[in-house]
Order: sequence, then structure tokens, then C-alpha cells
Amino acid sequence: MSKTAESVWNNCLAFIEDNITSQAYKTWFEPIKAVKLTDNALSIQVPSKFFYEWLEEHYVKILKVALTKELGTTAKLVYIIRMENTYGNKQPFTEKIPSANRSNLQSQDVDVPLKNKSPELKNPFIIPGIRNVKIESQLNPNYNFESFLEGESNRLARSAGLAVANKPGGTSFNPLLIFGGVGLGKTHLGHAIGVDIKDKYPEKTVLYISAEKFTQQYIESVKKNNRNDFIHFYQIIDVLIVDDIQLLSGKAGTQDVFFHIFNHLHQNGKQVILTSDKAPVDMIDIEQRLLSRFKWGLSAELNHPDYDTRVAIIKNKLYRDGVEMPDDIVEFLANNIKTNIRELEGAIISLIAHSSFNKKEITIDLARKIVDNYVKHTKREVSIDYIQKVVSDYFQMDVDTLQSKTRKRHIVQARQLAMFFAKKFTKASLASIGSQIGQRDHATVLHACKTVDNLSSTDKQFRKYVEDLSKKLTL
Ligand code: ADP
Ligand code: MG
Repeated sequence: MSKTAESVWNNCLAFIEDNITSQAYKTWFEPIKAVKLTDNALSIQVPSKFFYEWLEEHYVKILKVALTKELGTTAKLVYIIRMENTYGNKQPFTEKIPSANRSNLQSQDVDVPLKNKSPELKNPFIIPGIRNVKIESQLNPNYNFESFLEGESNRLARSAGLAVANKPGGTSFNPLLIFGGVGLGKTHLGHAIGVDIKDKYPEKTVLYISAEKFTQQYIESVKKNNRNDFIHFYQIIDVLIVDDIQLLSGKAGTQDVFFHIFNHLHQNGKQVILTSDKAPVDMIDIEQRLLSRFKWGLSAELNHPDYDTRVAIIKNKLYRDGVEMPDDIVEFLANNIKTNIRELEGAIISLIAHSSFNKKEITIDLARKIVDNYVKHTKREVSIDYIQKVVSDYFQMDVDTLQSKTRKRHIVQARQLAMFFAKKFTKASLASIGSQIGQRDHATVLHACKTVDNLSSTDKQFRKYVEDLSKKLTL
């Protein structure tokens, strides 16, 4: 007949469970423990201060109704906040501290009816104004599947992304790890999956976050001594997209906390999407246990787009920007910028800017200038062809002359310089250099390199050639 804390709380739970979504019930009520009942005050233990705030903000009414039903109108509710400063180092929860001693935040007395007390206790991760609704997804709506063009280079990653978006947490692609070089669409694809999920499952909590920001938040939470709130916040997310996880390398603390969050989400059937500029095997300074988690699902690579995909991406961008550009220029761009879609877009943008700014037509010449800028900035890989071109330009001859069989001294010198720089700036073998520079054998190339060495230490004029050419080639 006499009521216990547990029996009262169980009755409250039964009522609450009937009145809220099962997801919310699991998240916010299952972790609560009834601790004691004195007079008409029920003490419940909650896992963190954040938890307490959340309950107060979102479930005060239902708690009040439930408790009043059980204990009458004089019912009181006391929260006991479990103190857990470090993960895995659980201390016993603190005892209730009398309400007079409110300054101690470890524990709080709260009366029913509860009014919005302590509004200064804000969860830093929730955008003001919509706190009581949803967590802001941080997704860029322009990065969607429609604008992510399909090609051989991204087919696997793109279709895995679509599969995940159709059934978040319900495929074996969990986590889905998208990896690939800079500017190949990892961030775009990560957003696209999130945007699509939000579209199909508006009730799901989706969060996009860069590993960098995640790290900052984590460090901040340690400073403010609310690491648990941080963890808790991430554990309630349905679809977590973490961009550039290679940035976690060497950050043991962040990796540890991410490991716990990851496990929690994974165990609860939540979807995790990760991007990285490296394949898991190439990630350095990432803990083994985390690496092995990354491999649980699917690792899908974004490769360099082939020519047709590059053309399609350029045309799509022009179309979306409402700009027309002759086909030969589109082809020129696609032929010259091959390994980075961001640069491809950058070149288009500066091309458009130059032409409208100077009221000039977009011509191949203009395109060439702009591509040159881009290619230089990205350190063009010096090829033997390029070396021959630079050397023959410098000596005002054409490449055919440089390669010819003539014994004229200034032509021989130019040819020897080309061989010397080919040896210096490329990984090609002597034999390969010889065959590309006028069909010579490897001994000729070796001789050329020695001659250039000798001459540049004895002949001032010649040394100047070497210096000038060196500059041109490494610009
Ligand atoms: P990463 O994160 O791999 O460095 P991003 O996702 O930032 O690359 O992509 C760079 C740019 O290229 C973005 O503007 C993106 O929209 C564009 N992009 C990448 N892949 C595609 C694609 N398949 N279709 C259209 N645009 C793409
Ligand atoms: Mg990116």
C-alpha cells in the first residue's frame, strides 16, 4: 500500500510513454532513475545538467501532470544530476543539496509546478530560437544529389550515398566512408545524403559537422567541464555526417570521444557518414580501434572525373549560372584541369568574371591565360615535353630543331640542357629521357648531364642559362 519512489516513478513513466514518441521516451526517460520519495517529493537522477535542462524545457508539463496524478497537487520533483566529469571515470552521484544552496550546479531542487528556471543554462549546440524544435542540420541545400553529377569516377560512392539516404541506418553501409583527393566532391556528397534524408524523413535529426568544428566543440566542452553534455548531444542524433575525419589524426582525446559517440550511434541503428582525404589504410595517427570501426561499413572512393564527366560538370555549372560559353572553350577547360573539380569551377568563375569585367568575349586565349594561372598555382607537374618547350622557347628555336641531329653548338647545348633538366625535375630514367629528346641513348643523356655540370661551374654565361631556365621551370 505504501508508495515507493520506484512505484511512483513507474506509474509516471507508463503515463509519459503513452503520450510521447517512443524515440523521445527512450532518449529522455529511460535513462532516468527514481532515487527516493520523501513526503511528497520524488527525487529522480538524471545523467547530466544538459539532460535536466532538456527535461525542464520540453517535458515539464507532462511531468507535472504525471506526478500530480500520483502524488496530488502538492507533489514536488527533485532532480539529482549525476556527476560524471570524465567519461569512464564515474563517480557516485551527488546527494541532493538543499534548495537554499542553488549556486552549486551539481544538483538542483526543482519544485512542481516548474517555471522556466535558470534560463542562463543554455545548451551551446542548439540554435537559439528553435531550441525547442530541432537541431539545426547545418546542411547546404545546394549540395544535393541533383547537382552532384554522376560519372564513372563517383558511381559507387554516389549510389551508396543514395542507398543510405533511402534507408538511413538500415543498410550495411554504416558507416559510409567517402574518401578521395581534394576538390573531388566529398563535402558535396556528404551534404547531398543529409539533404535527401531530411527530405524523405523530416522527423530525423541530421547533423553535418566538420571534424575541425567537432574538435573545437569538444575542446570547449572540456574547458567548460561539460563533456557529458557534449557526448549526450551527439548521441541523440539520427544521422551524423562528419567531414574530413583525417583531421582527427593525432588528437587522442577527440578520437576517444568520437569513438564512444560512434559506438552509441551504431549500436542504436543510427547512420554515420564520414569523409576523408585518405583511404583508411593510409590514415596516420588514428587509433586502431577507430580505424577498424571505419571499415565496418563501406569505404567508397571518389576518383578523378573522366573527360566526359568534367564536360558535364562544366556545362551544368554554366547552365545553373545562366552563362553561355562556346563548346571549344568548355572542351579546353575540361582538357586542362583534370584533377580537381573545385579548380575547374574556379577557372569557370574567373573566366566569366574576366570577360564581364573587361567586357570581352570569352575566347580561347582568355581561357588559356586563366588556366595557366590555375595550373601554375597548383604546381604543374613538370613533364619532359614541357621542359623541351621551355628550353627551346628560351633559345628561340622550335622543339623539332632542339631534337634534330644537328651538331651546331648552340643547338647541342639547348638539347643538353633539356636533358639535364629532365633528369633533375622528373623521375624518368636516362633511357626514357633519351628516347623522348630526339631518340638518343642513355649514355648521351648521362654525358649531357655531366657536360652541363661542368660548364655551369666554368662558364659564367652558361651558368646564367641554367639559372634562368631553372626559374622558368619551377615557377
Ligand atoms: P572535397 O570536399 O572533396 O574537397 P567538394 O565537395 O568541396 O570537394 O567539391 C568541390 C566542388 O566541386 C564543389 O563546388 C562541388 O559542388 C563540385 N563537385 C564535386 N563533385 C561534383 C559532381 N560530381 N558534380 C557536380 N559538382 C561537383
Ligand atoms: Mg571537403
